[in-house]
Amino acid sequence: MGYKLELSEFFSEIYEKGEFPKFKVLINGKWVSTKDSVDLISPVNGEKIAEIGSVSKEQAQEAIDVARKSQNSIRDMAGIDRIEMINKIREEISVHKEEIIKALMLESGKAYSSASGEINALIERMRLSMEDFRKIMGEYLPGDWASDTTQKFALVIREPMGVVLGISPFNYPVFTSISKAVPALLAANSVIIKPPSADPIAFLMVSEIFRKVGVPNGVFQVLTGAGSEIGDFLVSNPGINMVSFTGSTAVGKHISSIAGLKKVHLELGGKAPAIILEDADIDLAARECVKGSLELAGQRCDAVSRILVVEKVKDAFIDAVKRHLSDYKFGDPVADKEVKMGPVISESAAKRIDDMVRDAVKRGAKILAGGKFNKAYYEPTILADVPRDAIIAREETFGPVVTIINVKDENDAINVANDSEYGLDSAVFTNNFYRAWSVMKRIQAGNVTLNAAPSHGTAFFPFGGIKSSGEGKEGIAYSIEEMTAVKTMIFNLSPGGLGKVYTGKFK
Ligand code: NAD
Repeated sequence: MGYKLELSEFFSEIYEKGEFPKFKVLINGKWVSTKDSVDLISPVNGEKIAEIGSVSKEQAQEAIDVARKSQNSIRDMAGIDRIEMINKIREEISVHKEEIIKALMLESGKAYSSASGEINALIERMRLSMEDFRKIMGEYLPGDWASDTTQKFALVIREPMGVVLGISPFNYPVFTSISKAVPALLAANSVIIKPPSADPIAFLMVSEIFRKVGVPNGVFQVLTGAGSEIGDFLVSNPGINMVSFTGSTAVGKHISSIAGLKKVHLELGGKAPAIILEDADIDLAARECVKGSLELAGQRCDAVSRILVVEKVKDAFIDAVKRHLSDYKFGDPVADKEVKMGPVISESAAKRIDDMVRDAVKRGAKILAGGKFNKAYYEPTILADVPRDAIIAREETFGPVVTIINVKDENDAINVANDSEYGLDSAVFTNNFYRAWSVMKRIQAGNVTLNAAPSHGTAFFPFGGIKSSGEGKEGIAYSIEEMTAVKTMIFNLSPGGLGKVYTGKFK
């Protein structure tokens, strides 16, 4: 079907008009055109809907220079004014919400429920950020605890990092970009966001709201372009003080190798196991595992992508999974708002998923439902008896495949769960409190959920991985903390005849 991207007058400055809208980049408070651009192909119908600007190195350097020069304009703003600025942006996003959701669905292929879920979550996260920001105060440390500081005390304060570069992935292009921009601004940093090339339009629309609400020029800038070209230039640039990256483990490793001595916060890939023990509520476990595997067509870092089911309940679990698969209406999400699962991001992503499914089948796995694709539309799929050495049992799937691996018992499940390079998210299903506690303690992951699929909504609870899944935490207050540097200010009281005199005596 021929879909056209049409934006209201409010957003008219963010693109050049033509056969297809050609999106600009935001530098120093102005939308500017780029010489080069890349086509944006909608996964909904496989057709071009827009052109996305590819920023040049000169433009990127200008943005960095401006960000450095402008930082004082946010630093000098009272904290309460920063809060009110974010509040106004939040209110304005709510006014334009439906238009932003529509663009997000067309550029990313998200179902209405997923696209509106993303925008609602970021609105709520902005509200919570304003609350959590008030808690970041620093601390007073008396010196009389240590023999060499009895005449001193210290104030430990948090200062902005300077210029924060936020890089975000295609699966939550708006939410992840906001999760970096808002804490960076609240903590008085300048921020440059590089959204994903595949689907940046909804975030560019939100960025226009930042600009129109009046975030000081140069403090909030947005650059688009291929990560492999402009990304390296930005990440390795000495004018950037901190990189906050969300994306694949491969790119995350590359970024940490070229960033040099700047702070790098990494939110990377995952391979979340869900352990189903014999005393679990099987229907609940199946419903949650189907949701965890199929929501957003499985394109989530926290997607359930290895279901480890103990032999005793395997058959009952598979029957329940088959029943719940039909909860996910599959099709064109733009044509039908009831659709819960649309295409994956591109035809090449669907092909990659299919290669993983075929590899598993070759090694002995059985397809119980789905297993076919047409262009970017990969069917909701159930894959059972998946061998532990299959590629789909070890690498990130990022597709709608309910992947079931048989395990003997609880210990076997833990061993398989922990035998992974990833450690982002996980789930355990059991009705026995003591087993739940024991498994949750032994699982190697940054997050573990009992009796539900991982789901992070506003991400109020801190979120982040261990092993190859990342470094640092993104939660609301946690993100603000990540984007500040601790400074210890030590006061010597002895010239005033104050402080304690150390005697070292005790009996
Ligand atoms: P990706 O790593 O391909 O790209 C992420 C971003 O990095 C994009 O904006 C891209 O343009 C940019 N980029 C690419 N090469 C770069 C370079 N050399 N320098 C700087 N930037 C560069 O990831 P993706 O395919 O967009 O997203 C999916 C991945 O993101 C999955 O692995 C998923 O698990 C992960 N993810 C993790 C989390 C988390 O919180 N841990 C959340 C969402 C997604």
